[in-house]
Amino acid sequence: MTPATTFAGRTVALFGLGGSGLATALALKEGGAQVVACDDNPAKMAEAAARGIETADLRTADWSRFAALLLSPGVPLTHPEPHWSAKLAKEAGIEIIGDIELFCRERAKLAPNAPFIAITGTNGKSTTTALVAHILRAAGHDVQMGGNIGTAILSLELPSEDRIHVIECSSFQIDLAPSLAPSIGVQLNVSPDHLDRHGTIAEYAAIKERLVAKADKAIIGVDDDIDRAMVARLSGGKRTIVRVGLTDHAAGSVYAEGGRIVSHLEGEPRRIADLSGVGSLRGDHNAQNAAAAVAVALLSGVEAATIQSALRSFPGLPHRMEEIGQSGKTLFINDSKATNADSTEKALKSFDNIFWILGGKAKEGGITTLRSYFPQIRKAYLIGASSEEFAKTLEGEVPYALCSTLDRAVEQAAHDAAASDAAAVVLLSPACASYDQYPNYEMRGNHFRELVRALPGINPTMGA
Ligand code: ADP
Repeated sequence: MTPATTFAGRTVALFGLGGSGLATALALKEGGAQVVACDDNPAKMAEAAARGIETADLRTADWSRFAALLLSPGVPLTHPEPHWSAKLAKEAGIEIIGDIELFCRERAKLAPNAPFIAITGTNGKSTTTALVAHILRAAGHDVQMGGNIGTAILSLELPSEDRIHVIECSSFQIDLAPSLAPSIGVQLNVSPDHLDRHGTIAEYAAIKERLVAKADKAIIGVDDDIDRAMVARLSGGKRTIVRVGLTDHAAGSVYAEGGRIVSHLEGEPRRIADLSGVGSLRGDHNAQNAAAAVAVALLSGVEAATIQSALRSFPGLPHRMEEIGQSGKTLFINDSKATNADSTEKALKSFDNIFWILGGKAKEGGITTLRSYFPQIRKAYLIGASSEEFAKTLEGEVPYALCSTLDRAVEQAAHDAAASDAAAVVLLSPACASYDQYPNYEMRGNHFRELVRALPGINPTMGA
């Protein structure tokens, strides 16, 4: 744990005990602060109380006692409107911050030169964060990975000069971390997302920009206009800015071309690694993530050979085009995280001869935007509430079966794929939320994995 000492001897309010909230309360307490915590969920309040945290209804509290409000990143700070706790904190004239800010203050105090890699972007944050951590570990570093992925930042070990923190940051977390100034900042891409919580895309992008604007070294994905404008604004100073992605090959870039990652940081372009055959990093989107991760590794002094072997051994993250098994010529892929058509498009782009399991709680527009990939699909297996709507879209273009449940879909798809003469892929990429049949996409993906493992003749592959 990293005790948060900034408020030692003082009292702070904390709202939101889900996810990182409890870890924040415990770190503050360990650092000598008095914490008064609150959550809408009485079970969370009870859990905090059982861990020795004072709980109270902050609506009726005396806010003049508090030195700050620690807000969970899941709670609206500004849009659609500030949460009542944020309004009360503003009225009391106290700062509103989150756990990343507490970490930054500890780092500034204990080890201001401790390596701190912060990663953001609309898409690819988790993959890039996991990949960076994997490469740095392969190079022998002591790596602490967390933030918006896995472990809450304050539950990680203390920052120190011989340890690297690799932290995924959501835009909400950046918004609550005014002194965030990582040693390496990565901003992957921007596309409209969470605009309900940030107002406009300009505001959303400006928050992401803060992470790289104050980084000692910045790595920015330049495959979209917003990020290219960001680079133009930030260039010209002394700070190193590395441009990454697929499109920009000029000096100062690390780019992906034809499945290779090339560094154009010093002298002539130099081939660093080859992504061909790396099952966990299929597709252009992962090439962008890999280029960013390679740039981090190069700036951290990792040798090309180590980077190459680490890319090859990267297991990938569960539920994102995850290879879970092979049976004869059939590969089974779990892409349960694809909860909308945009994400599913990435998977359809990456394979041929697809036996496609899809459906659930449909998003607006359904799968109509995926038509251009229909020729790659041998058959579709429909599950969940969207079945009727998707059947209409597929009618006359792709053969489909109404399977209703994942159990039946896996059985039928595996059977049909085995009968195919070419190499085939049974792909769960639902293009839908899971809530009609599962509590979340992870449970859906885990169920798929169990069903596939139970098939006769399956060899589990990476991640399984
Ligand atoms: P995040 O943590 O930002 O949600 P993940 O790494 O978990 O991102 O990937 C989630 C999904 O986003 C993937 O399954 C893929 O569909 C899509 N994705 C991943 N990386 C990128 C990228 N660089 N550009 C666009 N989409 C991406």
